[in-house]
Amino acid sequence: MSPDLSRAEVVVDLHAIRHNLRLLAGRASQSGASTMAVVKADGYGHGALPVARAALEAGASWLGACSLAEAIALRDAGITARLFSWLDLPDVDFTPGVAADIDISVSSADELARVAAAANRAGKRARVHLKIDTGLSRNGCPPYAWPALVKAAKAESAVEVVALWSHLACADEPGHPSIDMQAGRFHTAYEIAREAGLEPLRHLANSAATLTRPDLHFDLVRPGIAMYGLNPVPQAEDLRPAMTFKSTVVLTKRIEAGESVSYGHTWTAPRDTTLALVPTGYADGVPRTLSGRMDVWLHGKRRPVAGRVCMDQLVVDCGDDEPPVGAEVILFGAGTRGEPTAREWADTIGTIDYEIVTGMYRPRVRRAYL
Ligand code: PLP
Repeated sequence: MSPDLSRAEVVVDLHAIRHNLRLLAGRASQSGASTMAVVKADGYGHGALPVARAALEAGASWLGACSLAEAIALRDAGITARLFSWLDLPDVDFTPGVAADIDISVSSADELARVAAAANRAGKRARVHLKIDTGLSRNGCPPYAWPALVKAAKAESAVEVVALWSHLACADEPGHPSIDMQAGRFHTAYEIAREAGLEPLRHLANSAATLTRPDLHFDLVRPGIAMYGLNPVPQAEDLRPAMTFKSTVVLTKRIEAGESVSYGHTWTAPRDTTLALVPTGYADGVPRTLSGRMDVWLHGKRRPVAGRVCMDQLVVDCGDDEPPVGAEVILFGAGTRGEPTAREWADTIGTIDYEIVTGMYRPRVRRAYL
């Protein structure tokens, strides 16, 4: 058995995942759309397989992964639902994906040819979703090459065109003009596909568009972040953050006023105080840029971290309180007790909560599930 390397714990509340998914799938079904739960990047750091199972229980009928390998791992673990993957390295062999009934995104004639060759090797038709780049300028077929791609896909007997799809650039800014611009291009791409004799499903909406643009739900919505309980739009939504990141006190000590703490001595005790040592640092997902700007929830209250976050540890200023060794330290959570949240961390260091939670996919952070 390999040794347990963990120094901190992520607790994922699958009840919260199910609650959030039900809310999203409920919105989608009001428009007649199905729901694809996005579980890429190991379920945004929450664990792809447990999240996938929870999402399917709560009403998702599809799962979205980034790479073919992520999708195949879910299939191999016994997931029988529709699985879709959309971005791989140029040397990927699609054959095991076709064999495992993974729906595969296609953005170019070259990709179409590679998927068709894999289908021939696998001895079955590949299910493809043609991706149109409507303005994110990332993956996807540019509009000028779209008619040719559609024609080639229609003519290729080794593939079945299941869907056409795209991704929005600014859905988290409701009212941003690019949303309607992209929707217009999506519509045009659909008309071209229909004129070529295809009748694909359509999917475009991420979490933000699922919550704010029912007119863009089409056949399928693809929420990710909102399923994890993090709200991408300013509107209040009854979403429950699923992830709590916690550690434990390993040592306490008293220091006198004037003593300084951690590398660089950036913090000096203004009074005699108790310090609590937490064995969790930037190697475990606590950004060093939070040094001097973060609190934890410990022994019933928020308390500041004193001085710099180190690679493997941080120090909490507890004043006259003396938390016992073994006391739970909540680094971030849902915020319901007053503890910091992933959003608070993200706002403090100038990033998004997506990056905070996906950053929790680490060998030194164990996972537990509620
Ligand atoms: N669809 C695609 C193609 C994505 O890359 C993502 C995530 O970035 C999603 C859907 C889900 O987006 P969100 O997490 O904002 O709901």
